Amino acid sequence: MKPFPRAEISAQALKNNLSRLRQIAPNSSVMAVVKANGYGHGLLNVASCLTEADGFGLARLEEALALRAGGVKAKLVLLEGFFRQVDLTTLVEHGIDTVIHNEVQLEMLENAPLSKPVTVWLKLDSGMHRLGFTPEQFAQVYARLEACPQVAKPINIMSHFACADEPDNPMTQEQLQVFEALTKNSQGYRTLANSAGTLYWPDSQADWIRPGIALYGVSPVIGDLGRNHGLEPAMKLVSQLIAVREHKAGQPVGYGCFWHAEADTRLGVVAIGYGDGYPRNAPEGTPVWVNGRRVPVVGRVSMDMLTVDLGIDATDSIGDDVVLWGRELPVEEVAEHIGTIAYELVTKLTPRVAVCLD
Ligand code: PLP
Repeated sequence: MKPFPRAEISAQALKNNLSRLRQIAPNSSVMAVVKANGYGHGLLNVASCLTEADGFGLARLEEALALRAGGVKAKLVLLEGFFRQVDLTTLVEHGIDTVIHNEVQLEMLENAPLSKPVTVWLKLDSGMHRLGFTPEQFAQVYARLEACPQVAKPINIMSHFACADEPDNPMTQEQLQVFEALTKNSQGYRTLANSAGTLYWPDSQADWIRPGIALYGVSPVIGDLGRNHGLEPAMKLVSQLIAVREHKAGQPVGYGCFWHAEADTRLGVVAIGYGDGYPRNAPEGTPVWVNGRRVPVVGRVSMDMLTVDLGIDATDSIGDDVVLWGRELPVEEVAEHIGTIAYELVTKLTPRVAVCLD
């Protein structure tokens, strides 16, 4: 018997999504963003499927080291950079690139006793105002890196979009202009586009694209679906019915007893809850997929279970599969019902959910 709940990960979907992004950005190398455990899909699972990627983007050193320990030889880039001087030695030892986005990192780099230069991606704050050097600081920092023997040449440059997932927001064009103006004559690689940039702002594709969510088959844009761009959902979250109950009109269900059936019906109890990462705040009506149809969540999601209204004519049985999201039921739609984004749903699954690569 297969474990449940489980996240079934489609190797084929991951590979197809990478090919699709290459078609969309034919002149760019692909830095596949696999931070946060491959967006919940399993870091090594994803890396083993995306051997054709030109590199991988990680947030933390531990993630990059886990890839190296798993035998991944590809280019690795630490998108948040390093925080201790000793980590620079580890980066050099394992051939890991680092983003550099603040003065403290710059000083550590200038004073580090390194056996070999480290490859850096200088981060420009083109308008997001989260990480990076301001346009005013940029030339001076670039010059310091140029002069720093600990830094491999040429220096690469990156920036990150704040609003690229809002196709009508003029902010993206403004960020693009700042980036272009300051970096157009640089020698190293340049990268700006996340998934939304890659899909919606082709001018931002540059030398490298850095897609995360799109690789997993999901659109970054609210109201849009990955499949509208030829992408396939890579994750199917599946559990089972562990009870099917006759339920009388007027009866409540679950903690708080706040939902009452309007008419006689059958309720299904599904083995998944907030202890697995399914959000407790999923409201009544959030869809799940049972035996070829959508049925609504009713009552409060509890730690290990949730309840769904199967309808009076339901013939579903204990042991039947229930899909929480997947090809049948796009995670983007589920996220919209819950008032969150698909990124949060896929990355928040807990270790109790078995992640199975197909
Ligand atoms: N680049 C950076 C610096 C990021 O922080 C992220 C993710 O947040 C990405 C790229 C990938 O973003 P997305 O998943 O929206 O494609």
